[in-house]
Amino acid sequence: MPKSREWHLVARPKGWPVPADFALVETAVTDPAPGQILVRNRYLSVDPYMRGRMNDAASYSAPYELGEPMLGGAVGRVVASEAEGYAVGDHVLHGLGWREYALLDAARSVKVDPDAAPLSAYLGVLGMTGLTAYAGLLKIAAFAPGETVFVSGAAGAVGSQVGQIAKLKGAARVVGSAGSDEKTALLVDEYGFDAAFNYKKGPVADQLREAAPDGIDVYFDNVGGDHLEAAIGSLRLHGRAALCGAIAQYNSTEPPPGPRNLGLLIGKRLTLRGFLVSDHRDLRPEFVREVGGWLREGKLRYRETVVTGIDHTLDAFLGMLRGDNIGKTIVALPE
Ligand code: NAP
Repeated sequence: MPKSREWHLVARPKGWPVPADFALVETAVTDPAPGQILVRNRYLSVDPYMRGRMNDAASYSAPYELGEPMLGGAVGRVVASEAEGYAVGDHVLHGLGWREYALLDAARSVKVDPDAAPLSAYLGVLGMTGLTAYAGLLKIAAFAPGETVFVSGAAGAVGSQVGQIAKLKGAARVVGSAGSDEKTALLVDEYGFDAAFNYKKGPVADQLREAAPDGIDVYFDNVGGDHLEAAIGSLRLHGRAALCGAIAQYNSTEPPPGPRNLGLLIGKRLTLRGFLVSDHRDLRPEFVREVGGWLREGKLRYRETVVTGIDHTLDAFLGMLRGDNIGKTIVALPE
């Protein structure tokens, strides 16, 4: 049997995670028991929510255990099976990432078709981040054609899909913010956003007012902080915000200041609503049909930032938190 390498959390990060908080550990691979499959992981997902699971704090998903392998989305090939309906060579999506081999109950995996889409797409554009964009914009923010949409984190996995879906569904205007000029150019030139600004170059509120002078109807929040405050300022009567993430504060050691303009919610009758993608799995068939169709027709574009090798998983994760990525960050594990 081969050996497997897997990432363990060995100390809880204080502020920004550092390499000493993690260890790459070699373990023996064992044979599957009845009902189980052994999967050789091919693509691992690194996601912002993982930073929250490194804290020992009550949250919507349990903290990672110290000294235990970390968890996360992964796609791989079945290399041994004791489960009915699962054959060697099948490909599956499952939750035992951050490792080369995963041994799991087959019932905790979903089969994916490598001929229908590239395997990595099941972690991104056709996977968790794609469904987050779809559910957040269309269901939580209840976007309607003709509206103006602002999305932060707009060059990332979720944000780049939000802006494009809004355009495809008939938005009057889509504005995105991102952390570099290269990213803002991509939003306009490749993804069809109407305007984009670099939030590092000036106050978000000023740049948003300039990009959407008549205000916005929908804000898709990936960032929190000054972005959320600026959006509240620009939202029009009956505007809605889908609160998806607050990445500006994931590595903060102090509680972040709240938006100072919450009083505006009353007169403008605004709705700010948080959501988790895991509550919206019922939308998956509709999401796959619609987004799959746009991909086949070339109407929706996506990029991935692919980092190769299990030993670079932590680099990929930290790079994504820093904003080195464009689109979904994926770790590829060559067989
Ligand atoms: P991503 O956008 O692909 O990558 C994270 C991006 O965050 C970076 O590329 C960086 O881009 C940006 N960023 C980092 N620090 C920032 C800061 N201080 N201010 C502004 N932007 C900053 O990640 P993703 O997977 O698509 O996730 C995006 C957001 O959605 C995250 O907040 C995540 O937690 C949330 N999310 C929520 C759910 C849910 O169920 N609610 C599901 C998936 C994701 P820049 O170069 O532009 O700074």
